[in-house]
Amino acid sequence: MQRLKDLIQSAGTVLAFTGAGVSTLSGIRDFRGRNGFYNSQWEGIEVEDILSIDLFDRDPATFYRWAREFVYCLDRYQPSAVHLVLSELERKGYLKGIYTQNIDMLHQKAGSGAVWELHGSPSRHYCRTCNRVYSYNDVAPTVLSGKLPFCSICGTVVKPSIVLYGETLDTQLVDQAYRDMAKADVLLVLGSSLTVQPAASLPMAAYYHGGKIVIINAQPTSMDRYAKLRYDDLQTVFDALLPWAIDLEPKV
Ligand SMILES: [Zn+2]
Repeated sequence: MQRLKDLIQSAGTVLAFTGAGVSTLSGIRDFRGRNGFYNSQWEGIEVEDILSIDLFDRDPATFYRWAREFVYCLDRYQPSAVHLVLSELERKGYLKGIYTQNIDMLHQKAGSGAVWELHGSPSRHYCRTCNRVYSYNDVAPTVLSGKLPFCSICGTVVKPSIVLYGETLDTQLVDQAYRDMAKADVLLVLGSSLTVQPAASLPMAAYYHGGKIVIINAQPTSMDRYAKLRYDDLQTVFDALLPWAIDLEPKV
């Protein structure tokens, strides 16, 4: 653990990349991961189909009935030790920011400011007809009461700004991620098995430009052999890092 602390303290630019394993520490089920219910069904529909733009266009009521259980009750979850350590490191100048695959807004809840959400976020919703923007709090009460959230201007069903299957990631954000990874001296890869793009290739951008990779994930990843440090258990590592991060002097 000392090697990890030294690495973070001595590096110029540290970035974090977080995946579903970080959310599961907060009790959120991994709906995209292999150990979640991604492969299972919900009301007889494959979850991958529920999370597709195709189904959202055809049948938004089904999407929102699913999302009522898995997206619009996110406020009941609390940040984990991972979220708290990353927030503390950013506040003290040791972490430049976080790229995340998660859509649960827990990094922000923990106090992190520089968070880039590759798969979008339900913190923002928008009308695909008139582009009016709605917040999570505008939409959540309607969805939780079992109704569809309609645009107050034009009546179209509003859509959360999460990237559904069949939609493309924000290419500007992905480009920015590659550029930032290439400039990182240390990249912390946390709770991602690095199986989907661009997650699978982003750490390589750091590695090829001389960045040191730290991987902490329960399952093996394709990048393990490039990792400077490799741990399995996020909870154990970050429980140990939390008191250290709290006592750490701000970077000068
Ligand atoms: Zn509208």
